Amino acid sequence: MSHTAEIIAVGTELLLGNIVNTNAKDISQALAGLGISVFWHTVVGDNPQRLKDALDIARKRADIIITTGGLGPTYDDLTKQTICETFGRPLVLHSDILDTIRGYFERNVHMNMPENNVQQAEFPEDCVIFDNPVGTAPGCAFEADGVHVLMLPGPPFEMLTMLENHAVPYLRNLSSDVIVSHDIMTFGLGESPMEELLREKMSHMDNPSLATYAKPSEVRLRATAKAATAAEAEAMLAPVVEEVTAFLGDVVYGIDVPGLENACMKLLKEREWTFATAESCTGGRVAERITALPGASAVYRGGVVSYWTSVKAGVLGVPEDILDAYGAVSEETARAMAEGARRVTGADIAVSVTGAAGPDPDERGVPVGIVYIGLATPEGTFCRPLDLGKRRRDRIQDLASNHAFDVLRRYLTGLPVEHP
Ligand code: ATP
Ligand code: MG
Repeated sequence: MSHTAEIIAVGTELLLGNIVNTNAKDISQALAGLGISVFWHTVVGDNPQRLKDALDIARKRADIIITTGGLGPTYDDLTKQTICETFGRPLVLHSDILDTIRGYFERNVHMNMPENNVQQAEFPEDCVIFDNPVGTAPGCAFEADGVHVLMLPGPPFEMLTMLENHAVPYLRNLSSDVIVSHDIMTFGLGESPMEELLREKMSHMDNPSLATYAKPSEVRLRATAKAATAAEAEAMLAPVVEEVTAFLGDVVYGIDVPGLENACMKLLKEREWTFATAESCTGGRVAERITALPGASAVYRGGVVSYWTSVKAGVLGVPEDILDAYGAVSEETARAMAEGARRVTGADIAVSVTGAAGPDPDERGVPVGIVYIGLATPEGTFCRPLDLGKRRRDRIQDLASNHAFDVLRRYLTGLPVEHP
């Protein structure tokens, strides 16, 4: 049987626009991964009558209701009480949980538990309790007349931990089906061209389903299948993954790979090559991303953050006449920076980034978003010129570091690197 879910976020702060409803987004993503359709997101303030109204509507149209927020100890935390009243369930005190909460206060807050917190140890009769190792308010779930109600805390980190450890396993158990997904990772094609390309396919697909998750110029396509066994689900997914990968071509950099840097690391290891970086406008982001991966020392020799022209010249050996003639943000400088990094570190291959990250044009008037990625290899030096447009500084830096890895990945897979 397929399920229909509604997410109810409780909190006046959400209605006032003081905080963003990230919990709804995270819960929806988790449910998508379980093949559960979310048809409604509701937001309601800390008001018992309006919450009750929202619950009455939700129970008629969904068979899974997930609430977040209002599980805390204060007077405005009314979610559990209101749900119990709406569903006609008594609240029961769990003395073991009360002891745990008391212990949490003594250990972490070094004070006696305030009396208000007693309500955090009260739960609907006949429910499953979701413990909260990163906070005090446990969550819970029960079933009433075919409707499953799950209550999760408001603070995002507590919510996510409980979602992963308790709510997802609980929901998975509602169905005997096994759900398997694979992520087709792409770089270089925006989300809308991607959707256009796939529209035909996606709109007709239910099981397996295809969904896109986008970051700037990076799109993750998730194929999900539901079946009686994992093997059956895998068998359903294999042709879809193959077909979509073939359809998209070389923008696909891997299946179930977390990021471009992981793909590069694997390719470098296969060749037993080492690499180095020379970064200007990205300030070390490329180096940071590769060194975040365990085992990076096998492939990464090091890098230079050559921010000043004098460092580009003095440390990387970028010729003064190139810097004078073309400026720091230029194809010629990018090439010379990559060559310098390769020479200085002795790496097999080196990538460089120089560009104008903004908010103002560089001193020579190079507009914001102009970036050059250089690549020095045993076969010669390459460059990818980019116009990333007038975006936020950190977006340009992220995007430029993605391009640096993409240039490396494309070279190592034998593809042309000049264009994404
Ligand atoms: P607490 O024990 O902290 O009171 P709670 O379960 O009662 O937790 P709330 O009081 O409703 O949760 O919210 C606590 C905080 O969690 C809010 O101030 C807000 O920062 C964050 N929060 C609540 N709901 C959401 C949401 N839907 N999305 C993102 N953040 C949220
Ligand atoms: Mg609260």
